[in-house]
Amino acid sequence: MNKDYLIDEHNTKDDLNGSLDNIIKIAIEQTAVSILITDVDGNIQYVNPAFEKTTGYTFQEVKGKNPRILKSGLTPDEVFEELWDTITRGKPWEGELINKRKDESIYYEEARISPIIDNEGKITNFLGIKQDITTRKYLEEKLKQTSIRDPLTNVYNRGYVFERLSQNIELYKRERSNFSLAILDLDHFKKINDTYGHQVGDFVLKEFAEMVACNIRAYDTMGRYGGEEFIILFHNCDKVTASKTLERILESINNYSFKYGDEKLNITFSCGIAHAMELNDDEMTVQSIVELADKRLYNAKETGRNNIVID
Ligand code: GH3
Ligand code: MG
Ligand code: MG
Repeated sequence: MNKDYLIDEHNTKDDLNGSLDNIIKIAIEQTAVSILITDVDGNIQYVNPAFEKTTGYTFQEVKGKNPRILKSGLTPDEVFEELWDTITRGKPWEGELINKRKDESIYYEEARISPIIDNEGKITNFLGIKQDITTRKYLEEKLKQTSIRDPLTNVYNRGYVFERLSQNIELYKRERSNFSLAILDLDHFKKINDTYGHQVGDFVLKEFAEMVACNIRAYDTMGRYGGEEFIILFHNCDKVTASKTLERILESINNYSFKYGDEKLNITFSCGIAHAMELNDDEMTVQSIVELADKRLYNAKETGRNNIVID
């Protein structure tokens, strides 16, 4: 056997190992994904520069600390329970976390957290590989909002309200969770357009929608039904409460002048309200409840406008 050759081979392997270690180290330092290594108790032992850049913390600041310093309170507790349960069973966990940077700003990250297991099958460390997906989340949310909101008034669109209505109908049938549906239509709105122009009409529509939206509860759902008609879904609400809310809104609209340049415009609206309890389960659909509210809106118009019909 040629001894020199063996020595040569050994040296070459060592060199290769040495440079490979180096390459791995450089790759970890230069990658855009955050890398975090903790000990078995979850104390941070290493973070790479991408982690420092994303979180705003330096390695020295987080060394020995628990990654819970990044907790924003916005990730549901069940997510952490599942994460911890999975990795302590020796399995990798993948999911999304909503975390907080050093400057308190919130960011979303896609995380894969894996246990590092030694030759005896014992967990020695945990490895987190995480990617900041805040921009993507922001764009997704923007896209979602665009698809469910009316571009002129920024209240929800009809499709979204109908979807919520459909969910409310299911909930009502299961749990008797009351709801009311109101349809509002501005009175003689054509006259506003004809007198002042479409632009002024648009302005009034926008301001009207904002006024109404500010005067209902945050968890009720308001949408633009079409044209100068709006729809409000009052969740968990009896008919008296819904009609009182709308009476209050009608009164304030009656006492309010919309100001556009030098113009002062007064408007009124008519409204029909339907309540879940008025329909049998068998006949209750999105269409039947909308039709009932619409019929009452028609009655409100017929009986002189500027009024609310509830039965
Ligand atoms: P009524 O009291 O019977 O409801 O009378 P109206 O004039 O409000 O009702 P009608 O349904 O005859 O007309 C609605 C008008 O609303 C038609 C159109 O000029 C106006 N309109 C609908 N959508 C828009 C919009 O997006 N912008 C503006 N500026 N006007 C709109
Ligand atoms: Mg109309
Ligand atoms: Mg109208």
